[in-house]
Amino acid sequence: MYTFGQKIKWSSIRIWYYLSIALTALTGGLYAYITIPYFSYIFFNDLAFWKHGKHYPKLIGQLYRIIYFCIVDPRYRAMYSQPLAAPPSSGPDQARVKLSVGWTSSKNDCARCVNCCIKIKCPLMDDEGKKCLVYNSVYWRYFSCGRFPVSRKQIDYYECPKWEMRENMPGQSPVGRKEDMLYT
Ligand code: SF4
Ligand code: SF4
Repeated sequence: MYTFGQKIKWSSIRIWYYLSIALTALTGGLYAYITIPYFSYIFFNDLAFWKHGKHYPKLIGQLYRIIYFCIVDPRYRAMYSQPLAAPPSSGPDQARVKLSVGWTSSKNDCARCVNCCIKIKCPLMDDEGKKCLVYNSVYWRYFSCGRFPVSRKQIDYYECPKWEMRENMPGQSPVGRKEDMLYT
């Protein structure tokens, strides 16, 4: 089990991030530039912010796109799941997901699929659109990417061919399963 101290640390990192992106959105991106070493570290694991200059305008644009999705797309809102005190993760919870029956590639790669990245037009793919530029960064591990998928809603929204949820997962209520089926 996780200690109270760990949960405080993970929650603090997420709360600070949410506050930072809220201030960034409210200031038209100015706050991100004032605190640019922080964002450079969060996204690129690198305090040398000047190396990543071309990405910041795209990230600020992406922030507004995500806010737009949250406002206009109920499916996007419904599938967002980010417990504040959850541990950072570099892969989905294997107790909750399994490989799809038709998935023939390795568990450790996505066989050139980038459905989940292009669905939200993520600007953090490389120029060929095949590789994540922030793989295993703080952002990647603490938020959606590292723990994807956490629900059937996410799998359906991103049309993920690799994962499916396990049946009768411990802790999943019948109501939860019924809700998941709304998007099938
Ligand atoms: S895995 Fe990387 S490229 Fe894909 S959505 Fe996440 S941050 Fe963007
Ligand atoms: S949609 Fe699924 S298979 Fe495709 S890149 Fe995302 S996690 Fe991998």
